[in-house]
Amino acid sequence: MNLVLFGPPGAGKGTQSKLLTAQRGLPQLSTGDMLRAAIEAGTPLGVACKALMAKGELVPDETVIRIIGQRYDQPDCKDGAVFDGFPRTIAQAEALDTMLAERGRQIDLVLELKVDDAVLLSRVETRIKAGGVLRSDDTPETLAHRLEIYYRNTAPLIGYYRQQGKLKTVDGMAPVEAVTAQIAAILNAVPG
Ligand code: AMP
Repeated sequence: MNLVLFGPPGAGKGTQSKLLTAQRGLPQLSTGDMLRAAIEAGTPLGVACKALMAKGELVPDETVIRIIGQRYDQPDCKDGAVFDGFPRTIAQAEALDTMLAERGRQIDLVLELKVDDAVLLSRVETRIKAGGVLRSDDTPETLAHRLEIYYRNTAPLIGYYRQQGKLKTVDGMAPVEAVTAQIAAILNAVPG
């Protein structure tokens, strides 16, 4: 099964992807994690993306399409994957459809985690108050910019996937376990 976890920054895509990986054995393919690893390792890809990511800008479509294609061809994706933070533009969604079709596969389901902007902001503020190690893009200012980009470039994917009959919406403001339960109920209702 190939799933897309979709939603604004801070909606809980990473958390729910990790739970899906643990429960269903589907690898989590997070372009954000891949890019952060490249930055950490100081690779040319990391060097090229570092400033854009710190500002909350999207990295170029060709870059993420290339790294997701390479990652998807690893043996652990033979039964599918959970796409987390990808696609983020219509061009990326089209490239993903093409990549999967070339391998005789398709996106089976897109789970949209719906969370109000005010809740996203209060989550960032809570993380800041809690101390811990924060990502350089995890600030109220960068969140506001990332949300602008989300509504402009990424939210149109809701219509794209709804038209394909693949979109399911989940209340991402519920407690983590309740979100997980909603997702499980949707997945358990998928035939096969
Ligand atoms: P994330 O961890 O998914 O929140 O991603 C962190 C940052 O990585 C984003 O703000 C972008 O700068 C970059 N990024 C991650 N995934 C993508 C993508 N699919 N398209 C473009 N940029 C991305």
